[in-house]
Amino acid sequence: MNNTIVKSIEFKELLSDLPDLLQQIGNTPLIRINLPEFSHLEVYAKAEWMNPGGSVKDRAALNMILYGLLTGELNSDKIILEATSGNTGIALAMIASSLGLRVEICIPENASKERISILKAYGAILHFTDPLEGTDGAILLAQQLNQQYPDRYFYTDQYSNNMNWMAHYHTTAVEILQQTECQITHFVACLGTSGTFIGTARRLEDELDHITTVSVQPDTPFHGLEGVKHMDTAIVPAIYDKEIASSNITVSTEDAYASTRILARECGLLVGISSGAVLEATRKLANTIHTGVVVMIFPDKGDRYMSENLWRD
Ligand code: PMP
Repeated sequence: MNNTIVKSIEFKELLSDLPDLLQQIGNTPLIRINLPEFSHLEVYAKAEWMNPGGSVKDRAALNMILYGLLTGELNSDKIILEATSGNTGIALAMIASSLGLRVEICIPENASKERISILKAYGAILHFTDPLEGTDGAILLAQQLNQQYPDRYFYTDQYSNNMNWMAHYHTTAVEILQQTECQITHFVACLGTSGTFIGTARRLEDELDHITTVSVQPDTPFHGLEGVKHMDTAIVPAIYDKEIASSNITVSTEDAYASTRILARECGLLVGISSGAVLEATRKLANTIHTGVVVMIFPDKGDRYMSENLWRD
């Protein structure tokens, strides 16, 4: 049975009708990363790009949609609406397509060409927003549309929706506990909506006495880490709780790019820039600890970024 579901809610009836494709969300493998600077540690990447929609966001998207269907707030007359820099939109569009539902996405015009093409391929309608306003501009437009046409849209509102972080509380964290046999000592993930970090870290902290949870952010408001937020200057997501992280590591765009290239050229892992940011943070962390089992979240795959600057050398 698919475990990407909030356990406290009865989704059983819906689950029995769920397409096979959606049963494949979650249960992603851990892949050991053997860089020289990790020789004193066990470091693993959780391969979230292996979800059917190609990213970690499949988990939250499925949970938000199932909750909407269960409560009746979402039905086939309504259009799913979201603001996203790409991956949540792709996840929503993939799931909606398999369930016969419609999706409209507010997205900054400078989101990667690959992501925009994928969204269109799944049949999503796109509303482009000013690149200078980043994802915050997309959020404001989604809020406006939702207020203007409340009967038309089901606004998943991933920044405020508890189904986002709860998907990770009940699946991602549980998988990590099982996969490491509860031996995990450090958890490292970047912050976008913060759903992945908050849900996973909260559960790990509930289950384990000695766990260090590390959130990763860009070091400046203007950065090239698509999907990741600089919390001090961004609209802070309602689901974010800055008390959860044991520590926070900031990384520069250049260092995240360099780590993304190392993953492709030295580890055979062509992953996205936010995975590079998480690796970069873990390299900094590795300098400060003598032993440990570290699990990093690698949110998506690199082929979504082939037109980005980091590959122009
Ligand atoms: N990396 C990428 C590439 C993403 O698209 C996202 C989602 N915005 C994240 C990381 C962060 O995930 P979350 O929204 O769960 O914080």
